[in-house]
Amino acid sequence: MKILVLNCGSSSIKYKLINMANKEVMATGVVEKIGLKGSFLKHKRSDGTKAQLEGEILEHQVGIEYILGVLLSEKYGSIKDLEEIDAVGHRVVHGGEAFNSSVFITDEVIAKMEECIDLAPLHNPPNLKGIYAMQELLPNVPQVGVFDTAFHQTMPDYSYMYAIPYSLYEKYSIRRYGFHGTSHRYVSKRACDILGVDYTTQKIITCHMGNGASITAIKNGKSMDTSMGFTPLEGLIMGTRSGDLDIGAVNYIMDRENIGTRSANTLFNKHSGLLGISGVSSDSREIEDAAYKNNNKRALLAIEMFNYRVKKYIGSYIAAMGGIDILVFTGGIGENSDQHREDILKDMEYLGLTIDKAKNDGMRGKEMVISKPESKVKVMVVPTDEELMIAQDTLNIVSSMKK
Ligand code: AMP
Repeated sequence: MKILVLNCGSSSIKYKLINMANKEVMATGVVEKIGLKGSFLKHKRSDGTKAQLEGEILEHQVGIEYILGVLLSEKYGSIKDLEEIDAVGHRVVHGGEAFNSSVFITDEVIAKMEECIDLAPLHNPPNLKGIYAMQELLPNVPQVGVFDTAFHQTMPDYSYMYAIPYSLYEKYSIRRYGFHGTSHRYVSKRACDILGVDYTTQKIITCHMGNGASITAIKNGKSMDTSMGFTPLEGLIMGTRSGDLDIGAVNYIMDRENIGTRSANTLFNKHSGLLGISGVSSDSREIEDAAYKNNNKRALLAIEMFNYRVKKYIGSYIAAMGGIDILVFTGGIGENSDQHREDILKDMEYLGLTIDKAKNDGMRGKEMVISKPESKVKVMVVPTDEELMIAQDTLNIVSSMKK
């Protein structure tokens, strides 16, 4: 079965065509600057053939027409007929409380997704545009929605509620939802597959450390807590997001700087985090260079703060789950930075967690156990693959409907 995975953002569409028979990525690419000047499509086929097409791509539907066109093209394409696309899997950011798993998309499901727009006003509308466009362009092809929030719907109420008046939860659905769920689900399951252990009996902590970062406690196969909250702003320090912050400080800053909610939102989402502290960059490679090669103190501080926050969360999740069997690192920083992993895992031997320095050092982007064989807690690097997880869910849902 060939599945097209779409991730529609506000001005971009990422896509992958995956042949599920052998998990081969037949083609991958991105349409960028939709609705802006200079829009283009960048495409790569499995044999390495690349294409870049420029054009006036004013809306998502046109972007998807470009994608289907390049997939079909003689020179760059991977299929001869659109009928070869058996199903489409869409990444959807927010499923609110309505969706606790991936779903076959029907009109009723779309209506429920539309109700979730308030919760993710920047993300859900472009996700929906991709769905509407596909209904128009491939009306007979089944579509599946895979939500970033769905995996975390198993959190117990004492974990997802905020201690504010209960009426605000009832009125506006204010609570922790969590994000990156597809990634946390993929890497935790994959870790168990690699280790050959039963997913439903393990206590797992997954650290997704990329430009966005979150950490999840997974007990017996269910997310029981996660660091991102009502929005992706809460929790770990990120490239440009502050993560956890005293609301009192937010009020004070807004007062003193005389700024409104919009500017405050920009301040804490776009100018904070690693960028805000280091003043160097939001990119951890540049920050590591500044800290270790140029002895930049603020860059070093940013790294130390980032790692300390991750360590604190690991500790709290171990307490929440009553132990830990597996710790997984993923995301650009988690997969690639041995330094971050080493610093986070320092002084955890008391937990029965010992890292194998020889395995960790220089290890980038590969599936690997980096703890010592005698370590009670298995520490792993598992590169995330959200698209494969979306394709897998799509395959499962579509196949079960055919039965
Ligand atoms: P992501 O959002 O998952 O693509 O991750 C982006 C982050 O991963 C950026 O901060 C990158 O600097 C970081 N990253 C990617 N490759 C490396 C690397 N080799 N060493 C350290 N950080 C890396």
